[in-house]
Amino acid sequence: MKHRISIEAADATFDCAPGQSLLDAALRAGIDLPYSCRKGVCGSCVGRIAVGEVMGLNGVAIRNETCMPDQVLYCMCTPASDLVLQPVLWSRVDPSARKTFTVRVYSNELVAPDVSLLRLRLPAGQRAKFKAGQYLQILLDDGSTRSYSMANPPQESDGATLHIRHVPGGRFSAQVAQLAPGDTLQVELPFGNVALREDDTRPIVFIAGGTGFAPVKSILDDMLKRRVKRPVTLIWGTRDARGLYLRRAVDRWQKQWPDFRFIPAFSDLPAQDVVEAFAGRVDQALRAHCPDLSGHEVYCCGSPPMVATVRAAAADSGLASPDFHADVFVPGPSAQPA
Ligand SMILES: Cc1cc2nc3c(=O)[nH]c(=O)nc-3n(C[C@H](O)[C@H](O)[C@H](O)COP(=O)(O)OP(=O)(O)OC[C@H]3O[C@@H](n4cnc5c(N)ncnc54)[C@H](O)[C@@H]3O)c2cc1C
Repeated sequence: MKHRISIEAADATFDCAPGQSLLDAALRAGIDLPYSCRKGVCGSCVGRIAVGEVMGLNGVAIRNETCMPDQVLYCMCTPASDLVLQPVLWSRVDPSARKTFTVRVYSNELVAPDVSLLRLRLPAGQRAKFKAGQYLQILLDDGSTRSYSMANPPQESDGATLHIRHVPGGRFSAQVAQLAPGDTLQVELPFGNVALREDDTRPIVFIAGGTGFAPVKSILDDMLKRRVKRPVTLIWGTRDARGLYLRRAVDRWQKQWPDFRFIPAFSDLPAQDVVEAFAGRVDQALRAHCPDLSGHEVYCCGSPPMVATVRAAAADSGLASPDFHADVFVPGPSAQPA
């Protein structure tokens, strides 16, 4: 039986079918809630249930360590009664804004030993509408999908640039190096909604692990194009210097940004071999270089364990929990689109 869901103190209601997540039902009805991974990891979709009862989808937990005691993860809950929700943020969107395209490979470059930089072009005359930090899904032959963040800013809307790490044994990872100019792929976009507040002027710390650099690049290029020049610290963690596969983009920001600090962090090099970089993991670099994060925003993107350790380090340095935004590259096939 469907349940009726409403947003507290607002003229916004939608239905949620049995076994459907609150997040998917809201997105399908054109109600945009913050979200990223849709797999119960990142914590972007936390919110309160003001009235009614929920249960975990297929018995999974409805909370994780990112939730306050009275919050749940909307991506992991399905209703057990009619509900009134109290989300952290919400807005209306046009559900038809998400589109599927057949895109062509424009170029495919091996920019690090295990990273492909894939440039995709939309069909002539078509434009992709997305916000900096959002991601697309590639549809594979077996019907499953894989998520990849756009690295280009939204102003460059005739295609998508992806930074793809080759995961040993990974299905799409095995294909990506073989893709050649002219090959086609089916993609759907946009997904994700981890937005930085437009009206915020506080300093911001970006922390990227490996190809977690992709959405950070989109956001920073977008900020530059819109002349938003908040003080920025970028910590980019890789095993060694070869992992900084787009150093020229960082050099450009350093030249163009009045207040831009870059800290590369190398996790696999002995301290004595590290010059002009931090020897260690990104969470250690954050603790060492940003000991007081009160009055900051932090945006972190990478693997689940990396985001978890950075979240803990940021909290220890005084960051308020709503000011931590995460894009978590949860491995495996992506959740089906809403
Ligand atoms: C919102 C979102 C955005 C993403 N954006 C990017 C991006 O911009 N760039 C990028 O490189 N990746 C990104 N990812 C990860 C990406 O979607 C795939 O999961 C990844 O590329 C592996 O796909 P695959 O088909 O090669 O491996 P699969 O066939 O899905 O996996 C094969 C095996 O490897 C394991 N595995 C998969 N990924 C990892 C990993 N990272 N670490 C350890 N084990 C793993 C799986 O659990 C499985 O056992 C993103 C994920 C999400 C959820």
